[in-house]
Amino acid sequence: MPKPQPINRLKGFRDILPEDWHYWEFALDTIEDTVMAAGFERADVPVIEKSDLFARSVGEETDIVGKEMYTFDTSKMSDNGRVKDKTLVSLRPEFTAGIVRAYIENGMHTFPKPVSLYAIGKCFRHDNPQAGRYREFTQASVEVFGVSDPLMDANLISVLWEMFSRLKIKGLKLDINSIGCNECRPKIKKLFADYFKRKESKLCEDCRKRLKKNPYRIMDCKEEKCQNIVATAPLAIDNICEECKKHFMSVLEYLDDMGVSYNLAPTLVRGLDYYNRTVFEISASEGRQSSLGGGGRYDYLVEQMGGEPTPALGFALGVDRIVDWLKDNSIKIPKPKAKVHVYGIHLGEDAKKIILRKIKDLRSLNISTGLAIGKDSIKAQLKAADKVNAFFSIIIGQREAVTNCAIIRDMRDGVQETVELDDLNKRVYEMVEERLKEQEEDRGKKVKTKVK
Ligand SMILES: [Zn+2]
Ligand SMILES: [Zn+2]
Repeated sequence: MPKPQPINRLKGFRDILPEDWHYWEFALDTIEDTVMAAGFERADVPVIEKSDLFARSVGEETDIVGKEMYTFDTSKMSDNGRVKDKTLVSLRPEFTAGIVRAYIENGMHTFPKPVSLYAIGKCFRHDNPQAGRYREFTQASVEVFGVSDPLMDANLISVLWEMFSRLKIKGLKLDINSIGCNECRPKIKKLFADYFKRKESKLCEDCRKRLKKNPYRIMDCKEEKCQNIVATAPLAIDNICEECKKHFMSVLEYLDDMGVSYNLAPTLVRGLDYYNRTVFEISASEGRQSSLGGGGRYDYLVEQMGGEPTPALGFALGVDRIVDWLKDNSIKIPKPKAKVHVYGIHLGEDAKKIILRKIKDLRSLNISTGLAIGKDSIKAQLKAADKVNAFFSIIIGQREAVTNCAIIRDMRDGVQETVELDDLNKRVYEMVEERLKEQEEDRGKKVKTKVK
């Protein structure tokens, strides 16, 4: 029989192995700690939604919805192939659409304002895979509903700013712009459309389509010939109404007050249809590829999706890019916490049976345990215990097996004590509890020193 060929993962997807997982843990914990400290609460929405949801919110003419969605026809999947009504569903390409749907569907407009939510999870885009860009990626998304005050824009940006500095990311750059409201946007859109119409013959095919649906999107085109035309296009910021101007100036003032430095970026419009007024992007250094996250206001989206008129804003950040950045720049991150608290070590057949039983007892007491089955010498097993940063090892050799005893070894300093097997569970439980408490106190001390 020929040797079976291995099946490889799909293009644009990736595996995250244990050696990288501590970077992920650091990134995800930091993101969550920062937003929770700013009063955000977690919400989860389905990975699959009706395709219409994304078409209506993100915009049919955007690359994300027009070209990159994973869309399935569920009528072919159900009822033993009997074709029912055609229902198109898509893997979420981003979070905001689903969160807005959940906000409306669950009547969250009755909650005290602002309603501050965050979500973290996988999103999918059938994009051209390239460095730092995957078809399955982890996004963190933060949304605030119910406040139009510019203070909220500045506050949200400062949370993002703080998050990236906690993530140890250096060379941060904040690009910010205002793209106007329902009052002034039609006028700006017309200015745009008129300008680009005059240059239509020089635009790429995609941009000619964009010209009809949403000329703003031409600003995002990566084609060089379009970029040249964009460079001399009229700017939204020069044409926004007085109210928008006032709003934007206040955002900038608040940012100044909070010591967040920014870069005015008049060509920044963001690629999604739902944004208005403040839009922003954060990157680690120059260039498009290094964008780590961004967002803006979407004051009309909730109403457009069938809810009550609700001002809102949010941002999304790519966790994969953050992890890649940390690794590429060899950033030192805190050592992973001990996952295995107690490691079982044995010598001989009788001891093996006893250690298995004892490890099972400890597991049922919620103590996380590890075992090195298949390693013969005690030295090799101790090394394995060291490698997983275990607090303690329980050693049962031939003599202990005969005398119904076990040795508890503190892996930090090598101090050992012998206990009777009957007392082992209780003693180990006490010792692990104490060690965990110490760890917590240590963390508290670190926070206190920082405050000083
Ligand atoms: Zn306006
Ligand atoms: Zn173009």
